[in-house]
Amino acid sequence: MPQIQKDISLKAFNSFHIEVKAAFFSSFESVNELELLIDSLDHVKLTESSLPILVLGGGSNMLFISDFDGVVLQNKIRGIHMLSTENDTVLVEVGAGVIWHDFVLYCIENGLGGVENLSLIPGTVGASPIQNIGAYGVEVKDVIEEVHVYNIKEKKQNVLKNSDCKFAYRSSIFKTTDKNKFVITSVVFRLSTTHELHLDYGAIRDELKRMHVENPSIKNVSDAIVHIRSSKLPDPAKIGNAGSFFKNPVVSEKILDAIKLKYEDVVFNKVDEGYKLAAGWLIEKAGWKGVRKGDSGVHEKQALVLVNHGNALGAEILELANKIQASVFDIFGVELETEVNVIQ
Ligand SMILES: Cc1cc2nc3c(=O)[nH]c(=O)nc-3n(C[C@H](O)[C@H](O)[C@H](O)COP(=O)(O)OP(=O)(O)OC[C@H]3O[C@@H](n4cnc5c(N)ncnc54)[C@H](O)[C@@H]3O)c2cc1C
Repeated sequence: MPQIQKDISLKAFNSFHIEVKAAFFSSFESVNELELLIDSLDHVKLTESSLPILVLGGGSNMLFISDFDGVVLQNKIRGIHMLSTENDTVLVEVGAGVIWHDFVLYCIENGLGGVENLSLIPGTVGASPIQNIGAYGVEVKDVIEEVHVYNIKEKKQNVLKNSDCKFAYRSSIFKTTDKNKFVITSVVFRLSTTHELHLDYGAIRDELKRMHVENPSIKNVSDAIVHIRSSKLPDPAKIGNAGSFFKNPVVSEKILDAIKLKYEDVVFNKVDEGYKLAAGWLIEKAGWKGVRKGDSGVHEKQALVLVNHGNALGAEILELANKIQASVFDIFGVELETEVNVIQ
């Protein structure tokens, strides 16, 4: 039975490296351990009234504003199992605590295509459906078959099909209607032994050319993306950050045209709902790239990434984020929505 610890520092458990404490902290390595933990929390609740529960993966998409006056449960369910193979389709069940990039490497070693464009995204497999992680023209929803969950209130296991999760750009039921309702315990992926490569995004083709690759394999694509990401994005081990702080906003043609009148170089692409603007471009044009306020700041190479230069408080980073939002709205009339989970 996992132990429940008190007053634990979360600095090592969040990629912003914010120094906050959890009133209670524990971890679980199986669904059975999770069930035991949730049962034992009922016991704690007798003395500490209705404690909130926060499920933690790698802590790479969170900003803690203050000490967490509740129970942090770290998901450590491991294991990767091939469930079935039919023609070129392979179903693989992956424990929620598996490191996302380890799973990508497993797929590449086993010739399974589908997740190579999502190489090097930090965090765990269990968090991947939460905001429907995406990069280089691929979203994880494209390869999710089902999500296995534990309903905290009902104390019941359940299986959600892909369509139940209502995946959208950086969104799902886990971030909206059913926020904090489930612990994701494993994810089943639908992968393919025949590979449909997605190369027309960002600098993938240029990087493959630089690598002298003419007929790329999924490994080549993964290597190219690892190289591009490593050169572009700050490493959280060196400087605290949670990747893109804001979502790319989707606007109407009218708003896009108004921006185009002043800024011919506006970066956007057409999506079903309208026009997706590059939030990093908006923030950079608003003059925030590289700005530092105390230990909180905007990364000097990538304006979409807010950073902790050392001992920033979560509230300081949030204050900077609020100022950026207000200034982008003033200049462009566009609202930036936070992608990172702000934990109050
Ligand atoms: C340098 C950097 C680059 C990044 N690049 C990208 C990118 O290209 N694309 C992208 O989409 N994201 C990116 N991210 C964001 C982040 O990697 C993803 O959101 C990732 O899925 C977070 O995983 P995690 O395990 O760290 O989740 P955490 O930060 O631990 O948790 C995130 C949210 O999910 C919930 N959660 C976590 N695990 C579970 C579970 N098992 N059950 C229920 N709820 C759970 C948490 O409560 C929280 O609300 C980047 C982050 C960094 C630091």
